[in-house]
Amino acid sequence: MSDIKYHEGMKNILEAASNLYQSNLDLKNFAKWPDDLVNSNLPPRMIPAAKLVENFPLSGTTETNPLIEAIKANVNLMHWKRTYTEEEVGHDLYNRYGYCELFGPEGHFKSTQLRGFIGYWGNGLDYDWHSHEAEEIYLNLGGNAIFRTKEEDILLNPNETKMHHSWQSHSMITHKEAILTFIIWRGKGMFGLPKMD
Ligand code: ZN
Repeated sequence: MSDIKYHEGMKNILEAASNLYQSNLDLKNFAKWPDDLVNSNLPPRMIPAAKLVENFPLSGTTETNPLIEAIKANVNLMHWKRTYTEEEVGHDLYNRYGYCELFGPEGHFKSTQLRGFIGYWGNGLDYDWHSHEAEEIYLNLGGNAIFRTKEEDILLNPNETKMHHSWQSHSMITHKEAILTFIIWRGKGMFGLPKMD
């Protein structure tokens, strides 16, 4: 892999994410797009779910499909991680989920203003109750899932958003379809990580 290919690929993902942000009022109202982004040359890092992301269907909308395409085309350049251990979430979820920090304190593009993740969960998974200090907004890129809080369960379709307050418990269930998401964190706790409740 050449440096040029890496820079081009990651720039394409960031641009697609930025275009999507510009088209979405919920995201724009949630936070200002960071203006301190610097490429941190994070090395590619593969996990089992990366292969599934590569084969993810273009199941979004005209707004979200360009970002899905950019991710699929550059899966192998991305630094994929898992927050939890296999003991915490079980073998199946552990091997069919993952995320990549696109921008943020530890992201491909360093920012101390805002944190943006690409998150994937395979079909038929139960991502149990968890919480974190940072405020969060999910944008569903493609597929779908039931997003649960103690107040409500909602089916989130592509290009729809769901917000979580600081330390608000939430969980997620996928059925027939997998889900690919763009997640933004803001405010206090932005440098932290989620914990299972
Ligand atoms: Zn969350």
